Amino acid sequence: MGDRDDAQSGRQRPEAASSGPEEAARQWQTTFDAIGDGICLLDGEGRIVRLNRALLELLGLVPGEILGRPPAPVLNEALGLLDVPGLLPAIEASRRRHSADLQSDERWYRVTVDPADDELGRPAGAVLIVSDITERKRLEEQGRLAERREVEAGQLRDHIRRMTELERLKTDFLNLASHELRGPLAVLRGYLTMLEDGSLGEPSSAMRAALGVMRGKVREMNVLVNQMLETARLEDSRLVLHLEDLDLREVLADARRAVEAQVGPGHRLQFRPGSRPVPVKGDRARLVTIVASLLDNALKYSPEGGRVTCTLRARDRLARISVADHGLGIPASEVPRLFTRFGRLLNAETRGIPGTGLGLYLAREMARRHGGEVRARSAPGRGSTFSVELPTSG
Ligand code: ADP
Repeated sequence: MGDRDDAQSGRQRPEAASSGPEEAARQWQTTFDAIGDGICLLDGEGRIVRLNRALLELLGLVPGEILGRPPAPVLNEALGLLDVPGLLPAIEASRRRHSADLQSDERWYRVTVDPADDELGRPAGAVLIVSDITERKRLEEQGRLAERREVEAGQLRDHIRRMTELERLKTDFLNLASHELRGPLAVLRGYLTMLEDGSLGEPSSAMRAALGVMRGKVREMNVLVNQMLETARLEDSRLVLHLEDLDLREVLADARRAVEAQVGPGHRLQFRPGSRPVPVKGDRARLVTIVASLLDNALKYSPEGGRVTCTLRARDRLARISVADHGLGIPASEVPRLFTRFGRLLNAETRGIPGTGLGLYLAREMARRHGGEVRARSAPGRGSTFSVELPTSG
């Protein structure tokens, strides 16, 4: 404590005694001590000859451990600053102010060395200032981080804006294309019916075969256009369900009729609707579309044929319609992607099979809007089972 008092008053210091009246030295020391940064004066030999209270506090040393020593080892011992020696020769050579921000453990210090001249302008040592700038550095770093985050957030916002715009364009396109295709398709369907029923003359057997193919293709186009329309409606939040009281067995029967034309010679389509009504509150057309789309897939993705079984069960206020096939199957890791818009599995086996990748997406979205869900269990080469779960209303 006594040493600290001495440091403040400047007593016991050789140069204080020899540099002028005691009173002036005391005043000088008072001013010196009032400065918040650690300051010391170096003599011509580079040794510390005076220091202020802030430096003592910063270093946690007493004047006896500092006075008469060069600053580099003192700062190294007290603060762990290793780079100070480099600063001192630099000012010797240039006689200009040098400053460096130095780090030790968790803290930052700015060490500044100013050359000092005597009253005749001759080099006479230096003033060394040590400031603890940890807080300033922390704030600067925080500022830089905040700036970087702001830039990143801006980039993310731009990206989201672009993605949203693209999504909107996609929906607009789906909307436009499906609306524009509906008209010509209706005309084609009309002429096809007239050709088939002989209104335009009795068709030959070769023409009948061609008409059968055309009917199938027009049906495919119809499904495609409807899927596009429904997707656009879903995304514009324009989809409205027309709910009515239904027996799910009727939904199964309608779906069966819708896919009958797709049943190939190698396929065996089995229905197990159960013997009791399964009441639900639902949009009939949409529920038929869900089941028809699962049946259609089961047939499409069983190119070698095989049994496709559609089962209806109800338990604990939950109805489950399962469609099981023995077709190509899907790796489990791919299943979630197939429920997204346009999600398709493209490989050598599926490449030639037509589709949009909208069927499962729509089936799940529609089921969810009925408070239900569509799930899949599948393994490559072993077939798949897709199930629709719906709350019953009975
Ligand atoms: P797509 O119009 O392509 O059939 P979906 O959305 O109905 O579109 O099905 C998405 C993809 O899921 C299909 O392209 C197919 O790869 C796969 N998939 C759907 N159902 C089956 C199934 N029963 N067996 C094997 N793969 C299927």
